[in-house]
Amino acid sequence: MKMIIRLFAAISALALSLATGAAQAQSSAPATPAALTMTRLDCGSIMVNNLSLFSDTDAYPGARRQLVDSCYLIRHGDTYMLWDTGLPASLIGAVREQGGPMIPAMTISISDQLARLGVRPDQISIIAISHRHFDHIGQIGDFPNARLLIGAGDWNDIRSEGLANEENAPFAHWLTGGGNVDPVTGDRDIFGDGSVVMLNMPGHTSGHHSLLVRLAAMGPVLLTGDLAHFQENYDQNGVPIFNRDRADTLASFDRFKALTRNLRATVIIQHEARDVGKLPAFPAAAQ
Ligand SMILES: [Zn+2]
Repeated sequence: MKMIIRLFAAISALALSLATGAAQAQSSAPATPAALTMTRLDCGSIMVNNLSLFSDTDAYPGARRQLVDSCYLIRHGDTYMLWDTGLPASLIGAVREQGGPMIPAMTISISDQLARLGVRPDQISIIAISHRHFDHIGQIGDFPNARLLIGAGDWNDIRSEGLANEENAPFAHWLTGGGNVDPVTGDRDIFGDGSVVMLNMPGHTSGHHSLLVRLAAMGPVLLTGDLAHFQENYDQNGVPIFNRDRADTLASFDRFKALTRNLRATVIIQHEARDVGKLPAFPAAAQ
């Protein structure tokens, strides 16, 4: 009998502590989660005249493909961030070169699109980029006050090359100590609530990341970065000849696809024209 009483007391104490824990968890959580929206921005296009560059197994002999260049404005409560900053705005109105394996083009800058949304460039407090390539960093210089989140592997490469590599010119403000750089090792939960997470997906570059955005109505969305550039390469785990590391790329495909299945996420390949319609057309935002 004594034993039963002791057991009952122990269970009561456990139940009480669980209830208290739940109450504490409730009181420390915000009353409502921060509102989260995502708007696709037009960050240019790239005509690929030699699609073979995107396959180290010669999957696309003689093929050409028009790619889009996408950036995303994400609003978390009162905070604005950009995911990628597209091609350089100097391409707007420039004479389009003829020939060449990849021909980039631009019609409107990020700042002009933000103006249409009533957002000033100085309201962007975070710029997170998938990787260091020219078509993802072109307009970072328009946001000098933003904290720059970039894969540590990429940032180490950029720092060791410095401005001697002219492809690093857009990083000048951050390379010369003027800007706030926050190198990302592994994954990064940007707002600390799991709603927007940079995912470590190396291979295309050493510090390449994809982005998970958990929208309330649309559900989880996975932005590829340049894990793949178009649907066929995504489907076949295709590896461009200019990727940094083949084995890392394949491991990243494996992780990304398992996450997609487990989260039942919508995948958006950022350079894939056929994926633009997965989000509402600008200026509307996904929620
Ligand atoms: Zn790209």
